Amino acid sequence: MGSLDSKLPESPLGEFQPLDPEEFRKQAHQTVDFIADYYKSIETYPVLSQVEPGYLRPRLPETAPYKPEPFETILKDVQKDIIPGMTHWLSPNFFAYFPATVSTAAFLGEMLCTCFNSVGFNWLASPAATELEMIVMDWMAKMLKLPKSFMFSGTGGGVMQGTTSEAILCTLIAARDRALESIGQENIGKIVVYGSDQTHSTYTKACKLAGILPCNIRSIPTTADTDFSLSPKLVRMAMEADVEAGLVPVYLCATVGTTSSTAVDPLKPLAHVATDYGVWLHVDAAYAGSACICPEFRQYLDGIERADSLSLSPHKWFLTYLDCCCLWVKNPSLLVKALSTNPEYLKNKPSESNSVVDYKDWQVGTGRRFRALRLWLVLRSYGVANLQTHIRSDIRKATMFEGFINDDPRFEIVVPRRFALVCFRLNPRTRFEKGSTELLNRKLLEWVNSTGRVYMTHTIVGGVYLLRFAVGATLTEDRHVIAAWKLIKEAADALLKES
Ligand SMILES: *Cc1c(COP(=O)(O)O)cnc(C)c1O
Repeated sequence: MGSLDSKLPESPLGEFQPLDPEEFRKQAHQTVDFIADYYKSIETYPVLSQVEPGYLRPRLPETAPYKPEPFETILKDVQKDIIPGMTHWLSPNFFAYFPATVSTAAFLGEMLCTCFNSVGFNWLASPAATELEMIVMDWMAKMLKLPKSFMFSGTGGGVMQGTTSEAILCTLIAARDRALESIGQENIGKIVVYGSDQTHSTYTKACKLAGILPCNIRSIPTTADTDFSLSPKLVRMAMEADVEAGLVPVYLCATVGTTSSTAVDPLKPLAHVATDYGVWLHVDAAYAGSACICPEFRQYLDGIERADSLSLSPHKWFLTYLDCCCLWVKNPSLLVKALSTNPEYLKNKPSESNSVVDYKDWQVGTGRRFRALRLWLVLRSYGVANLQTHIRSDIRKATMFEGFINDDPRFEIVVPRRFALVCFRLNPRTRFEKGSTELLNRKLLEWVNSTGRVYMTHTIVGGVYLLRFAVGATLTEDRHVIAAWKLIKEAADALLKES
């Protein structure tokens, strides 16, 4: 320090080797042991992190270390400083949001993906990454009984995105550009898009990112008497009114399994409306789509043959770890037309011969991970039979919880259960006004979550504040659902006594 000597200082540490295979083997084995121990003891941690905002800074040094630290020390600090600040999504007592499901197979697939670190933007950059993804997307399409028009073996194709948000954005831009081609770029302000008041919030964000005017994003109201599904009649009326006003309907997002209450929009009649107005119909089945590999749930995708695109996030209910969203499109050339790039430094013979898929033209970014490995390992390691069993087992546990609610007159189911999410509330009708029922349920949620023994979340549909009990964390067994119900009842006892 302070020396005027311009020579670079010698490393005080000897040769620096960021990837030494033997060192890797040793530390990776330690990490696997750490992970297995974590999974084994995960139940002992409060499922919802109990730390206060800003907890971490005082625990860690103010600057990065100048000299290397031993791996053992770092792992110890993960245990000591990081784990307390984790909300344990893999805890069997996690019933919040939708579960983010996992499996040994997907973890190992992720290890292999990370191992190769291929940046497969085009076919040549790793032919296997592109070709396996195409095959796995067709496999998934067949499991879901999608028509050939969504498969590479037919006339469409699929791509793996990180999230639904990207899937919606990419298809929306394809639909937008198709429209602009006929109405002219200057008329982008006339483009109107449609969804329901239950459509995921990421839809509005994607619309804004795609340059759709916020005043042209229609959010069609839903009501309790259709279980909060999107009314084709209202969509038609909205489109008709927009056309009359000189606007141009372009995109409709329907949802199979809404985030608040797993409502299912009726695809067939919505597709009719979309066809009549030349509108791109996208189906967001982020959560519930996975259930459609079981014949008894496939009906929810009836009408999909008339949609333009479908997205489904295996990272929710298909055991794949984040991040993994499957997107199928009927007309990949529209996607490619809107999103392709062709810089000199990526030019190559296979791409120019048009004989390959270059996935960079199907997504937002250029670089992409070899995500297909994860899904491929899940499909091969478990087989469709086990995956169907997995879905049914979650549904069975949710049905059990629904039964508990139905058997206790102080509680009620607010929206009929379709999948593994139970929407309920405490409603001791005689003693409470509307406003105080909401307050009571807010208190109940806070009471339960503050114990660290269960984590649930809430929503509001049709003006009703309700509690969401989403069954399906991979490690959840019957006993966890039973214990959660016991805790919820205890909370109700305490709150009702107090009031
Ligand atoms: C969870 C969810 C999303 C957001 O999904 P990501 O893939 O995490 O972006 C979108 N739509 C629905 C219906 C969802 O349930």
